[in-house]
Parts: sequence; C-alpha cells; structure tokens
Amino acid sequence: MFDPSDIRKDFPVLKEYVYLDSAATTQTPRPVVDAMCDYFYNYAANHGRGAHRLARETTNHYEDAREAVAEFLGGDYEHTIFTRNTTESINMVALGLDWEAGDHVVTTHVEHHSNLLPWLRLKEKGVEVTVVTPDPDGTINPNDVDSAITEQTKLVAITHVSNVFGSVSDVEEITSIAHRNGCMSLVDAAQSVGHMSFDLNKIDCDFMAVPGHKGMLGPQGTGVLYLKDTDSIKPTYLGGGTVYAVTEDGYKLEDAPGCFEAGTPNIPGVIGLGRGVEYVKALGVEDIQQHEEGLAMDAARRLSEIDKVEVYGPMKRAAVVPFNVIGLNPHDVAMILDETKKICVRSGHHCAIPSIKLLKVEGTVRASFGAYNLPEEVDLLVDTVEQIATTLT
Ligand code: PLP
Repeated sequence: MFDPSDIRKDFPVLKEYVYLDSAATTQTPRPVVDAMCDYFYNYAANHGRGAHRLARETTNHYEDAREAVAEFLGGDYEHTIFTRNTTESINMVALGLDWEAGDHVVTTHVEHHSNLLPWLRLKEKGVEVTVVTPDPDGTINPNDVDSAITEQTKLVAITHVSNVFGSVSDVEEITSIAHRNGCMSLVDAAQSVGHMSFDLNKIDCDFMAVPGHKGMLGPQGTGVLYLKDTDSIKPTYLGGGTVYAVTEDGYKLEDAPGCFEAGTPNIPGVIGLGRGVEYVKALGVEDIQQHEEGLAMDAARRLSEIDKVEVYGPMKRAAVVPFNVIGLNPHDVAMILDETKKICVRSGHHCAIPSIKLLKVEGTVRASFGAYNLPEEVDLLVDTVEQIATTLT
C-alpha cells in the first residue's frame, strides 16, 4: 500500500526542505543512488566494449535497465533509446527525420521550449510550423490540431502535460487525428511518465520523449526516446558503438538501439534509472497519480481562495500548480518561501515563454508535486503564501 510518509526515509533531503519543484527534476531515492554506487564501487567498466568480466557485468546491468524501462513504458526493448534528457530526445527526432522545404509541423502554444525550438529551427530548411493555441486553461482541443493539419504536415509535436498550466491534453486522440491525416506524432511526456498511468500502445505515437530524472525517479542526465519504428529517423550522432562494419569508404550501422547511442553512454545514470522505474512500479503509478493530483488540486483550490492570489490552469489538473501573488514578482515570492520556510518552488517563465504570454503575466510561481510530498506541505505552502499576500501587498 503506497504511503508517502513511508518512502520519505529514502529521500534524506526532505528532512530539511519542502521540495515542491518536482516538475523541474525529482529527488532521487536511496536505492537509485545505491545502484549507481554499486556500479562505481563494484564493477565499473565500459558498456558493450570488452570481453572481460567487468565489461560484461556493466553491459548486462545497462541492458537490464533498458528492459526495465521498456517494460515500464509498455514498449519494446529495441525501441527504447537512452538519451541525456527529454530535450535531446526531441532534438534527435528533429535532426533525424528527412525534411524538405514545404514540409509542415504542427505544434502548440503550451510547449516547453524543448518541444518548440527544434521545430522553429527547421524553418531554416523551409519547413513551415503552425502553433496551435490552447483553451484558456491550457488544454489543447484536438479539433484545433485537426484544423491546423495540411496536406504537407509531416509531424504533430505535442506535450502530454503542460509544465506551465498543469493541463493534460488528449494525446491519444491527437495522435489518432495525426495518423488519420497521414502524419506522424511526437509526444513530450516530460510531465506525465511516472506521474500518470497511460498506455503507450494506446497512445500509439511515433515518438515519445521521456525524462529519466522526473517521474521515473532516475538521476539527472538520463532520458529516453521511444521510437515506434526504429527506421523512422537517422541517428544524430555516429561513432563508437553504432556500427558493426567500417571501411574507408563507408560503414554499416548496427540495429537499434545500438545505432542511436554513440560513444560511452551515461552508464551509472542508466543503471540508476533502471532501479528508479522498479521503485516507481513498486509504489504503483495509479496510486502516485491519485496522491500527487490530490495534493495539486487541494493546493490550487486553497490558494485560489486567498485574496490577491491568482491560480492558473484547469481545476482538474496534473501535479503542477502555477500561481501569482498580485503585485509581487514571482521570483520574490519564491525567495521568501525559501528564506522563511525552506519551501522550494520554481519561479519565472519555466522555459515556456509562449505559454506565459498566454497568461499575460511576466512569470509565475510554480508548486509541483512528487510521490514523496505530504498534505502538511500543502498546508505550509498555503499558509505561507497567505501570509505573504496579506503582509506584503
Ligand atoms: N518538456 C516539458 C513539458 C518539460 O516540463 C521539460 C522540463 O521541465 C522539458 C520538456 C525538458 O526536459 P529535460 O530537462 O529532461 O530536457
């Protein structure tokens, strides 16, 4: 039975701090750190490059992590590519597809810069980009995506959960619209994997970009690119580990996943990530979702009842609560929360300037939740924001 108080022993930093910034990156549980220490202390070597026992043991642990992550996502081993983060995964798709002038990409106003800039850069190649506007609460209406698709549309790139609004878009419906119109779809699952239960096969997207360091509780510097069809993109990087035959005239690439992971990968990170998904699986994603969303919706409701506090996003939301104290700069509010109560929240534009512009503000304070947060932490946040709003405005 999932009990957030019980798992807090695995996150020593939470003894001292109220960590409400899990949308940026989550805290790392002890078993993940232990798995990485085990690698460093007991068998560290390179991956896939040697016959000696340490190289074999390293390779086995790394590939076991791939199995674990693939299974966690509901996908296949060969289609699960390790990357550094969500951003790298998305860029690998932007750089790996064959683009021609006149091709068209549909994306939205609620994207993190990581799922916007790689498409905007394609304009240099003559690719056109349409940016769909969401409903006022940040939710994308699938019909608006449908209307934006043209004969030239090659890809629809959309976030599952907005890191600014906490809104959830129907990526299954949007992917089916994309496919019906003969285009591919990419889902940015940075704020959903590990936080929400969903079925990758039902979403059926062509590409899913996933962080290792958020809902899957792996370490920073890890991410995943899930490819439905491993031949759909060309590898971005080439070099060691990607080929099985080379002459001066050319080379023959390995099959996936090897051809997509050039050079020495983040071996300890991937091994930690493998342990992270086991940890999350044991807690149960459905229970995590219920817990985190319960905290977020409670926080949003109570903050919105405070005079001079404005909360954004839908009532039914993911684990992200953006707000402002009217008359105060969001960074000042974040600093006061930290200085007075050691409450760590994010403030600013959250790497999503177009979303912030939709709210017609300069930035927001953002409280975001993880499996380890407690209702008492919501109480402390709400009480402290109320004090700030009543004494400083
Ligand atoms: N997409 C969304 C929706 C995000 O919230 C974030 C980061 O917060 C990213 C992409 C970028 O993630 P990463 O830091 O793993 O590259």
